[in-house]
Amino acid sequence: MNTRTQPKLARLSDALATYEPVIGLEVHVELGTNTKMFCGCPTTFGGSPNSQVCPVCLGLPGSLPVVNRTAIESTIRMGLALNCTIVPWCRFARKNYFYPDMPKDYQISQYDEPICVDGYLDVDVPTDDGVTTVRVEIERVHMEEDTGKLTHAGGAGRIQGADYSLVDYNRAGIPLVEIVTKPVTGTGGLAPAVGRAYVSELRDIMRTLGVSDVRMEEGSLRCDANLSLSRSGEPWGTRTETKNVNSLRSVERALTYEIRRQAAILGAGGSIKQETRHFHEDDGTTTPGRSKEEAEDYRYFPEPDLMPVAPDPAWVEELRATLPEPPSVRRKRLQQEWGISDHDMQSVINAGAVELVELTVAAGVDQASARKWWLGEFSRHANENDMELTDLAVTPAQIADVESLIVEGTLNDKLARQVFEGVLAGEGEPSDVIKKRGLALVSDDSALVGAIDEAIAAMPDVVDKIKGGKVQAAGAIIGQVMKATRGQADAARVRELLLEKLEVS
Ligand code: ADP
Ligand code: MG
Ligand code: ZN
Repeated sequence: MNTRTQPKLARLSDALATYEPVIGLEVHVELGTNTKMFCGCPTTFGGSPNSQVCPVCLGLPGSLPVVNRTAIESTIRMGLALNCTIVPWCRFARKNYFYPDMPKDYQISQYDEPICVDGYLDVDVPTDDGVTTVRVEIERVHMEEDTGKLTHAGGAGRIQGADYSLVDYNRAGIPLVEIVTKPVTGTGGLAPAVGRAYVSELRDIMRTLGVSDVRMEEGSLRCDANLSLSRSGEPWGTRTETKNVNSLRSVERALTYEIRRQAAILGAGGSIKQETRHFHEDDGTTTPGRSKEEAEDYRYFPEPDLMPVAPDPAWVEELRATLPEPPSVRRKRLQQEWGISDHDMQSVINAGAVELVELTVAAGVDQASARKWWLGEFSRHANENDMELTDLAVTPAQIADVESLIVEGTLNDKLARQVFEGVLAGEGEPSDVIKKRGLALVSDDSALVGAIDEAIAAMPDVVDKIKGGKVQAAGAIIGQVMKATRGQADAARVRELLLEKLEVS
């Protein structure tokens, strides 16, 4: 277990009664380009260490960077999707610092001349009684390059106490885009949920644009969460910047924790240190990192080895005209097409199943059944196996196959679940699973008649009741037949045959 000492925390309700939280989010997105930001090295993940490097991304003397056009195009499309102004001219800047994961001793980034500025994103935030829309203003969207990856051996994987460290430069130079919000004020106790909803919406937009695979767990989308508290009417307080927040849930937890921690300090008459902090997934706490007093001076200056970037306005307009439908608009359109309530739509959104349901409906399944499978059976399976819904081994076409077998009476719900169980376990197509597991409903009347006759013989008192007019008593016999056929009889057909036989239909 962890041995971190716990600082005093205020109760959340007390903190919010006294202070107004202000949040700000810095999100890094790793672009899915084929090659790196300033050289032609491949960006594929998982190559053997230092196999995807060249003089440019190793920072060897005399090498010269060249900007990746696709990375610029992706960044402009991101800026447009975030309602930003795309500047007509900008430059890269050198951010100077030493760290062994960055062989040039500087990172090429953008500083006071970012490529996209002044945008906003409207996000739907769930509240106790529905959904409220909050506008999050975007300060800037800029380009930079990723660093290499250090692995510390010994010393529990941390640099302190490590026996030695290994460095892999395959990641060095992969294009990154940083999206920085303006301070978000006036959201009160919703602030942590706003942070989460913003990152979630941003992720959906990036996915829709196809610029990144935006997997938080794998680090292709990383978020730093800033938070400060002040009393209402007073100037904003000092912020902390929590790093390593790598899930949507963690964004919300980290912000909530900082509200409680800072409120306790302020309430006791203390003051907040401006610092970076680290978030810990295991217990939801944050601990101090670098303080701003000891922060480096990066000595930014314009990168002399690269041309300025001056996107042709006609090109920008072309990119604007070909932007995909924003996810928020698409969600509203789908909700209308499916004819479902806000609450039901929210469930689909929360399950991360909007697109999957959409594809399943497109494959010919009715919306209610599509939602039922994804939100029920498949969500449960994903949870149990710690997987994403999108990674499950079941396709919309397979759901459509199984659904048509249900409609046609070859399967009932219970059998369909077993079919999917087999499909998810890799036993093949639904038809293979049905064959291998012998799952089809017994629709052959002659096979049912035998079981019905046996049940009738075994339950004479029930038969008397049915004949006497108590048709609902038939359930007992139907149940017996289902048991005898191991659930593979079509219950409706059994009922028909039974009542026919007893001449009460
Ligand atoms: P740095 O590089 O020092 O982190 P940035 O400008 O990149 O600075 O990001 C700072 C983030 O913190 C922005 O999202 C900004 O909106 C936010 N921010 C600034 N002041 C405050 C404050 N008082 N409280 C909360 N967030 C703040
Ligand atoms: Mg920053
Ligand atoms: Zn390279």
